[in-house]
Amino acid sequence: MNIIERISSGKTLSVEEWIQAIDYNDPGYAEELKAAASVTRDRIYGRKVFARGLIEFTSYCRNDCYYCGLRRSNRDALRYRLSYDCIMDTADAGYMAGFRTFVLQGGEDSYFNDERLIMIVRGIKERYPDAAVTLSVGERSFESYKALKEAGADRYLLRHETADSIHYRKLHPDDMSQENRIRCLHDLKSLGYQTGAGMMVGSPGSSSRTLAEDMVFLSSLKPEMVGIGPFIPHSATPFRNEERGSVDLTLRMVALVRLALPHAMIPSTTALATASSDGQLQGILHGANVIMPDITPPAERGKYMIYDGKKITGDEAGENLRQIAESVGSIGYELSMERGDYIP
Ligand code: SAH
Repeated sequence: MNIIERISSGKTLSVEEWIQAIDYNDPGYAEELKAAASVTRDRIYGRKVFARGLIEFTSYCRNDCYYCGLRRSNRDALRYRLSYDCIMDTADAGYMAGFRTFVLQGGEDSYFNDERLIMIVRGIKERYPDAAVTLSVGERSFESYKALKEAGADRYLLRHETADSIHYRKLHPDDMSQENRIRCLHDLKSLGYQTGAGMMVGSPGSSSRTLAEDMVFLSSLKPEMVGIGPFIPHSATPFRNEERGSVDLTLRMVALVRLALPHAMIPSTTALATASSDGQLQGILHGANVIMPDITPPAERGKYMIYDGKKITGDEAGENLRQIAESVGSIGYELSMERGDYIP
């Protein structure tokens, strides 16, 4: 049985086997992997790519991750937070444009305590009970995740960033811990959130082995969503002179995750789109099935600078959407505005 068949059949692979699957250098293999990932996605979700309206509502962050432009030590970062009313207006415009999932993403901003976040989640769910609310606001307590779930949040994105504990330490200062990140993911799952994990590809000091560890971790956690993007340096971080992650390797990881977790919702990320002009379409061709257009109000859009050159598209949500629908259509897929829940 070849390695693609082994992964597809749900067999548990060892770290060494994953390294082989990641490193195998053969054009035929790359094509086979891409085709298998695409067929797998089509079998479960059809040729649909689900749209999510991304609202980047705060650029303040208490953390100091070495890779991220929003780290607290970056004095030059443009900081903003959207008001409650502004977030509701953004959701209104997004709903009118057709979105049925809103992703609220931000730095770890203490201003947005449980009370304020609950208000926001409730506000959106009361207006639009048929829309899903996805939160992506970092590490919080079990009680906080529970309260947000009870307020109506449906999904939560929290990339594990890396499953390798030594590599984790190279990416994060001492006041953060991998144990806590993983505790959060387990809490989110146990509370019934559709939970998203994921990693950057090619972050400084990473290797096929760290990615293999990610595959072992993802195979055991079985998250409903997996976000994968290339690492892209930011000029005001300690990693300013590091190399950007490879697009081809990122695409390979997307395909491997699709095979290992056939049902996962996998976004074709903004980082892929930033790193290569056809990166986002290639992501879809390698098994991704979600696109997250940025619907942050134009006045603040572009200030959520986690890495240099982050691609900013469209002036209005609607405008942007037409272009995306066209390009997704051009490779034989349909941009779906459905809520697009995980199919178990
Ligand atoms: N504060 C939230 C959201 C972080 S931004 C949280 O901690 O989950 C979302 C993702 O952007 C991060 O999880 C990280 O994987 C990615 N990211 C941050 N800096 C990056 C960089 N320089 N290159 C590529 N991706 C990056």
